[in-house]
Amino acid sequence: MIKGIGDNRQRRQIAMEWIFACGLVMAVGQLGSLNAIGQTDQRRYWRRWVGGKIGSADTMGYGFARIDCDSIRFIIRSVYSQLKRNKALHALRAGMIALVLDGHESHCSQKRCCGGCLKRRLRTKRGEEKIEYYHRHVMASLVLEGICLPLDMEPQRPGEDEVKCAIRLLERILKNYPRAFDLIIVDGLYARAPFFKFVIKQGKDVIAVLKDDRRELFRDAQGLFKKEKSTIYQEGSVKKECWDIEEFRSWDQLDYPVRVVCSRETRKIKRQKTKAFEDEVTQWVWVSTIPKRRLGTQNFIKFAHDRWKIENNGFHELVNYWHGDHVYRHDPVAIEAFGLTTMLAYILFHAFIRRNLKEVFREKYTKKHLARMIASEMYQENFSPP
Ligand SMILES: [Zn+2]
Repeated sequence: MIKGIGDNRQRRQIAMEWIFACGLVMAVGQLGSLNAIGQTDQRRYWRRWVGGKIGSADTMGYGFARIDCDSIRFIIRSVYSQLKRNKALHALRAGMIALVLDGHESHCSQKRCCGGCLKRRLRTKRGEEKIEYYHRHVMASLVLEGICLPLDMEPQRPGEDEVKCAIRLLERILKNYPRAFDLIIVDGLYARAPFFKFVIKQGKDVIAVLKDDRRELFRDAQGLFKKEKSTIYQEGSVKKECWDIEEFRSWDQLDYPVRVVCSRETRKIKRQKTKAFEDEVTQWVWVSTIPKRRLGTQNFIKFAHDRWKIENNGFHELVNYWHGDHVYRHDPVAIEAFGLTTMLAYILFHAFIRRNLKEVFREKYTKKHLARMIASEMYQENFSPP
């Protein structure tokens, strides 16, 4: 296909673009396997979408292990900019957009490892010690009206912790998307002075879950919650009792006043065994840099709970429908490149159904059904290009 075109560099560039295009079409079709696309060798379809024959599973794996991941990031940023220009992205509430950072383990193995594998020691039931190899990455997603938009991911390197990896990811996000978000939402692991200092220095705000391992701050806050008057309100079926106090200075390592918010949430649940209704009470405490005058208590709590949205919608959908955890080739670059390609496919799919499909069509069919319709074209013997 590319014989006789330019020099070796140009031919390699064209080959890589073709391999990437095959991978992207595979991801959009949610096939989840390089061998699966080999079985869709329906020439008219592939000629239409990638301009030639499909690559073999080996060629695809080889190519993805050599892709420049920043070029995929560049495409994701271009799609984001286009959506932004078309006014397709809207703040969910309070005119603010949140970026959620979360660590995720993609897979583990006791047999196979690569240069990017992390290691941990496990003890079997027989008392033997075994080494397990695994990959983890931190993903950054925007929480927007109607969509969780994955922007970027960064693999955790051997010997470093998740927060260090997240700071490296944030540095790149701040460079590529400086005005895309106002505040960062993270779990309790990130309630550490170096992370908060980094975010404050960048002029952004952060909301982190506060656990009792930040003992002084947690104890001070708990003491004040007992003395301060709470606010009670009903939100749907959940009753929330909240405390919201600013100007805490008991976090020694931070040297910056923080805000602490507590929400005690009561909801009625029906026990399956007894069929009786019971009150289930959960309590959440968060530490933040954002002042009350910029974000009121009720919106603060909604934003803080948005982290679940990413876990339940974003990660869940990427892993279960988009095969986000599938290891197409056990190689650190290939894992990162396939991960970014899956994110790009997810964004394109959601942009397509939100922007191009009529509402009546969107309401009639589920996202899963629409994805199946896209994939079904690959298997059509007599595919006719649109
Ligand atoms: Zn590995």
